[in-house]
Amino acid sequence: MQIGFHLSVAKGFDWTLAEARRLGCEVVQIFVKNPRGWQERAYTDAQRESFARLRAAVPVYAHLSYLPNPARIDENSRNLEGMLHEASLCAELGIEWLIIHCGSREDTKRGMATVARAVNEVLERHDLTIVLENAAGQGNALGRTIDELGRIYEGIERQDRVLVCIDTAHIFEAGYDVRKRATWRRIVREVDRHLGPGKIGFFHFNDSKTDLGSAVDRHWHIGQGKIGLDTFRYLMNEERFAHLRGVMETPKMGGMDDKNMEVMRSLSSLVPRPPS
Ligand SMILES: [Zn+2]
Repeated sequence: MQIGFHLSVAKGFDWTLAEARRLGCEVVQIFVKNPRGWQERAYTDAQRESFARLRAAVPVYAHLSYLPNPARIDENSRNLEGMLHEASLCAELGIEWLIIHCGSREDTKRGMATVARAVNEVLERHDLTIVLENAAGQGNALGRTIDELGRIYEGIERQDRVLVCIDTAHIFEAGYDVRKRATWRRIVREVDRHLGPGKIGFFHFNDSKTDLGSAVDRHWHIGQGKIGLDTFRYLMNEERFAHLRGVMETPKMGGMDDKNMEVMRSLSSLVPRPPS
């Protein structure tokens, strides 16, 4: 398992690279634009060059910003425009993977079909892989179960360019007791059945501040939440996930990235790689 963090790009990609190196990240996840606003962004040549240095050093995954709702692209054109803008920024920077949350809609059936349409629109225009992230199930969030992710997946044309990201906090909050090994066997079985073998493509390693089945999305530090260390120890050492990558999206809270990385490393029974 290659692990890293969601890192800020607010101070520029050179800072992000230095931070990734400092923390020993083998993978990073970023936002390609301000995640809290609709305004589009344009990169300068210098920023593109700086990004190229980051990408040469470590695999980079992008996470869709908070505002576009893929489940409502038929109601507000900004949703699809926002997604396409971010996909085009990924293409411009050479980012291969865009992780998206599936958005929310009261009419879940309509919502799931609309998410599939949104993914189809993006993949028709841009050569990247969309990674669908599971949700805690807050509000009318879609993708709370593997079955729901599978129903979204059914409507996608270019399935060869779609993977799933399992967020450990979300899936626990959605009611899957991931503290049990049997639950992981069930998750793998469900992904195999509803999407296909090998479709788990990424992890978000977060402990949960809220209880099993709370449907309340609160990421917490590794081993200090309701999931606990054992689950992360299992994931770090499980053969079938060994080829995968994942990032922590734990609260930054000054210095906690160092601590969370140290904890994750300590769980791995494999000999750590020498620093590059
Ligand atoms: Zn996540």
